[in-house]
Amino acid sequence: MTQPSPPNVREWSIQDNREPSVRVGVILKQDLQKFISIDIPDHTHTVFADGFSLGDFTKTNVKLALSGSKLAVNVNDQVVAVENSVVIEPKAPVTSAEDAMIVHDVIAGRGFHWQKRCEQSLAGTAEIFSERIGLVLVNRLPLETYLAGVITAEMSGACPVEFLKAQCVVARSWLLAMSESKHDADPFDRCNDDCCQRYQGIANTSGAAWQAAEESRGLVLLDENRNVVDAVYSKNCGGISETPESVWGDSKPCVESIIDTSDVSSFDFLNASTDQCFDAYLRAGKQLAPHVYCSPSFVPPDVHSKYLGHVDEPDNYYRWSVTQSRGELEQGLAKRIPQLSSLARLNDLTVTLRGVSGRAQTLLVEWSDHDGELHETLIDREYNIRHALHPRFLYSSAFAIEDERNDSGELEAVTLNGLGWGHGAGLCQMGALGMGIAGKQLSEILSHYFPSATQFRIYE
Ligand SMILES: [Zn+2]
Ligand SMILES: [Zn+2]
Repeated sequence: MTQPSPPNVREWSIQDNREPSVRVGVILKQDLQKFISIDIPDHTHTVFADGFSLGDFTKTNVKLALSGSKLAVNVNDQVVAVENSVVIEPKAPVTSAEDAMIVHDVIAGRGFHWQKRCEQSLAGTAEIFSERIGLVLVNRLPLETYLAGVITAEMSGACPVEFLKAQCVVARSWLLAMSESKHDADPFDRCNDDCCQRYQGIANTSGAAWQAAEESRGLVLLDENRNVVDAVYSKNCGGISETPESVWGDSKPCVESIIDTSDVSSFDFLNASTDQCFDAYLRAGKQLAPHVYCSPSFVPPDVHSKYLGHVDEPDNYYRWSVTQSRGELEQGLAKRIPQLSSLARLNDLTVTLRGVSGRAQTLLVEWSDHDGELHETLIDREYNIRHALHPRFLYSSAFAIEDERNDSGELEAVTLNGLGWGHGAGLCQMGALGMGIAGKQLSEILSHYFPSATQFRIYE
């Protein structure tokens, strides 16, 4: 008797008590891709065109090309015109990278400073169809296999296993909570990028990653109403984590600001939302470091390349500094922010509202247009502020502004002295890694970042 197929994440409910499958958008229509090349390994895969099998294949290449609005598939020099879709399906489940099909030229990090193209090894099925402007590739696979891929794309498979388990639990909870509806109009649950959570196939999965998925199988965080917690996470909180209210405007049950330390009594800063507190907290980076899990004391820079995901560049995210000339800022602001398209001269930048972690929620830009007329524009949301202030996206919006002015008081350059990487709410990935390196166990890591959530296994 065949097993009933698992529900999709969108159809999943907590009563199901079985592992759902997830549909991930790997190539999206906005990538404007007209051609896809996929290598089939030794492990047998069946290729279907519009539901009809073209045969079982090993060790071959499948090409999909969009010409005008017509999709064609070419496998072993057999070219077939396709009306709806092509599906490539493994004969037996894929549990290692050697058995996975390889899709070439997939974009990773869309629009961020680390955008690049790479090849991805996909378990499960690939469905390819045309959305007129470009081809779309949707990967459908069991949730736990997806998570083994996610945790090794977000961070490296060489990380301590207790950290990988924590990353698995938050990624699983976030996915099953499905609180954001970024892709309601798309034929998939989640995309493969930081817009949702990073998934780059299973090529970088390690023994520790599979072990982390297996040992944390089905484990999620629940709130007091037994709903799965929307367990958000970001790379480095800087010492104090942010509230969801400050980042997205709404609270999330069981996601609250915490101090990322082993020793709260040594920490003088519980709230950095005033400029004065923020400045002191920023400057105290070194002195606080021995107590802060996401600082270089717990995660030294020389282990970054070993432990961070392979698309991340090692840097000091705990405290950082970026200097730009007035000209560079003017060009960027006028280009990236529609309300500033007629900006000719930047006069001043001021953070007007901060969250508890010091992350800017609103930034006031004072500027003049080409006729010399003065304007004030308020940029809100940490995401928009980070986009406005750096061509490759500023690490975080937790920064103090240091002006450099000439003798006539005109702005010449701006240095942003900042802390942390990402929105800072929920689990701090580098902090959880620091806890893992320090030998902390999964349940300690989860209760440190989500003190009011309960840990519960929803399927075996
Ligand atoms: Zn997305
Ligand atoms: Zn942290």
